[in-house]
Amino acid sequence: MNIRKNDTVKIIKGKDRGKSGRVLQVVKKDEDRLMVTVEGLNLRYKHLRPRRDREKGQRIMFPALMDATNVMLVCPKCGKATRIGFQINAEKSELTREKKQRICKKCSAVI
Ligand SMILES: [Zn+2]
Repeated sequence: MNIRKNDTVKIIKGKDRGKSGRVLQVVKKDEDRLMVTVEGLNLRYKHLRPRRDREKGQRIMFPALMDATNVMLVCPKCGKATRIGFQINAEKSELTREKKQRICKKCSAVI
């Protein structure tokens, strides 16, 4: 999986299936396991206890971590949810500094 921060992704599993949003956070859990949070999706409540006597407890909504395998990248070029492919750039570009580029499996655009 090669989802990055600020990618737009579509959720393919769970209660928010079919919705898409921006990746806020990518967390590496294990060697092969990435977790992500997506803006406004997979929301959970966090309960805050009142700290003073007359203060009420609060519920705060926040996007919970989910397994990156539950989301697909939405290609900015063709707008489709896609798997990510890789290609090796023959000449190292000064812009990307990386030889390995992500490409859309649907339209082959470099992402
Ligand atoms: Zn595409």
